[in-house]
Amino acid sequence: MTIATINPATGETVKTFEAIADAEIEAKLAKAQQTFESYHRIPFAQKAQWLNAAADLLEGQAADWAKLMTLEMGKPIQGAISEAKKCAWVCRYYAEQAPHFLADVAVETDASRSFVRYQPLGAILAVMPWNFPFWQVFRFAAPALMAGNVGLLKHASNVPQCALAIADIFREAGFPDGAFQTLLVGSDKVAQIVADDRIKAATLTGSEFAGASLAATAGKAIKKTVLELGGSDPFIVLDSADVESAIATAVTARMLNNGQSCIAAKRFILAEAIADRFEQGLIEKFQSLKIGDPMDATTDVGPLATPDILAELDHQVQQSVQKGARALVGGAPLDRPGNFYPPTILSDIPIGTPAYEEEFFGPVALLFRVAGIDEAIKLANSTPFGLGASAWTADDAERDRLIEELQAGCVFINGLVKSDPRLPFGGIKRSGYGRELSVEGIREFVNIKTVWVK
Ligand code: NDP
Repeated sequence: MTIATINPATGETVKTFEAIADAEIEAKLAKAQQTFESYHRIPFAQKAQWLNAAADLLEGQAADWAKLMTLEMGKPIQGAISEAKKCAWVCRYYAEQAPHFLADVAVETDASRSFVRYQPLGAILAVMPWNFPFWQVFRFAAPALMAGNVGLLKHASNVPQCALAIADIFREAGFPDGAFQTLLVGSDKVAQIVADDRIKAATLTGSEFAGASLAATAGKAIKKTVLELGGSDPFIVLDSADVESAIATAVTARMLNNGQSCIAAKRFILAEAIADRFEQGLIEKFQSLKIGDPMDATTDVGPLATPDILAELDHQVQQSVQKGARALVGGAPLDRPGNFYPPTILSDIPIGTPAYEEEFFGPVALLFRVAGIDEAIKLANSTPFGLGASAWTADDAERDRLIEELQAGCVFINGLVKSDPRLPFGGIKRSGYGRELSVEGIREFVNIKTVWVK
């Protein structure tokens, strides 16, 4: 894949980049290793000061970072501004909390003193996607840098300017050269980098294919990985739910980031009694969304990030419709330059169609009707994925069953599935493993050292 900024709203190639040569990869790995030797001894207070400075830069220039994100991957500008600010939040959160999360933990045993100590591992490779081009990276980098690790970023090939900007932010914030570096390389170089002895662990957010490939290479070299992969998350609405509020949240849950979020609600599982009302409400709301230039602050839905994503999504929709699904709104790409796909709703989805079985990475809501909670849970769990489930009910017993029985890394009752620095984030099944954020996130890439003193 070419490393380039291609405006998804127009198709125009704005800037292309040469992938760095093997000699430069070698130099960056050497620099990471060398920096780690001193960086891991730097006290929390100093690292926190740098990370807070990074937060200041993110907030102070949020509009500029947002323009870069929107230019490269097409998210509506308001969402991009929020993303820059959320990155500042995760930086401030770990600047404050890391010393507590990584303090020694005393454990009483037969020793005179025993405890657990958390120590950094070294250089960590982060392979990141384009959909939240700043957030995905800061979510990894803030805890990694506070823990005393150094980071190497292989970003998606369609967001090179975001990748370079992020490394600049850390440098300008005061982190030593080499604490966080961007590698402008294609995915063909990832295996070679993961296998290098100087890389101690790796994290990937993206497709199952990419995750499996990275984990296989890391596994051969006995290196830990964290994987955040796809999802086909359910949004369950039961009889007793506040349907109006569920509809309003459903629109955000499906349309956020032009529908390209791993935790977007993708399958709407509706109890028969409220299904007509929900369906009608969703149609009206989808039809009222403004599609257009993502740089315009009033736009709700912008273009998809690349022509390939548009083609794949349209293929999934056409295949499903040919096999019997009904498009209630949308259902074909818009006839205009750029990768525009309209908000789309499919219903009456037969088993065996892409809409029944696959993840839809774009603004397409898939509607399913069920008799009640038993069928809802069974359908929700009937996918290979398990990332974030949203379920709507006013009944306490139903709520407790949903919490207990939904197979997902997180369950949100009567709310939008979202990531929050204070809560662990990650999936089960083919959505991946390991956790980011919270105390669990910062303890993924550390040596959990047991100490026993007689
Ligand atoms: P990819 O998985 O292809 O890309 C994500 C990152 O992985 C990019 O940096 C990419 O580099 C890299 N990569 C790709 N192939 C390999 C490989 N074999 N080994 C190592 N690294 C690799 O995602 P796409 O952009 O193609 O999106 C396709 C699907 O990915 C979506 O349908 C969705 O399911 C999933 N996805 C999930 C996301 C999430 O947030 N969980 C985010 C984005 C996508 P390069 O760009 O150079 O190819």
